Amino acid sequence: MDFRIGNGYDVHQLAPGLPLVLGGLEIPFEKGCVAHSDGDVLIHALCDALLGALALGDIGHLFPDTDDAYKGIDSKILLGRVAALVRSKGWEVANVDMTLLAQRPKIAPYIPAMRETLAKVLGIPVDAVSVKATTTERLGFVGREEGIAAYATCLLGK
Ligand code: MG
Repeated sequence: MDFRIGNGYDVHQLAPGLPLVLGGLEIPFEKGCVAHSDGDVLIHALCDALLGALALGDIGHLFPDTDDAYKGIDSKILLGRVAALVRSKGWEVANVDMTLLAQRPKIAPYIPAMRETLAKVLGIPVDAVSVKATTTERLGFVGREEGIAAYATCLLGK
């Protein structure tokens, strides 16, 4: 069996009065991510991990933020397209593992629904989709609630 591993990282700035979309869910919070798309930093990191595993560039290259087609787009659509691209190259997603860095809001209550949502979009079992969250102990831009960051790792097989 052949394997490929990929990693992704993304950051979005937080600003008051915008919807906060993380892992495909809208989460009630007084701030949301500034972005051309819906700003789903977790899905963006995941897309970059999947693309990185096959050396297919990155999400900004595939879906440019200068293109009006992607203005406000649901990032689940982007993830679905990336997953389809991976499959079209003959690879299957074995598992994905993500870490979200946010000082607030509390992410833990949303993790089960995020895992189910992402598993459905990827077409893989929910036990192959891990979402973890941490604060940064009030340190740095995440700790000051200026932004949210995410890391993602994936394994592909064929
Ligand atoms: Mg992004």
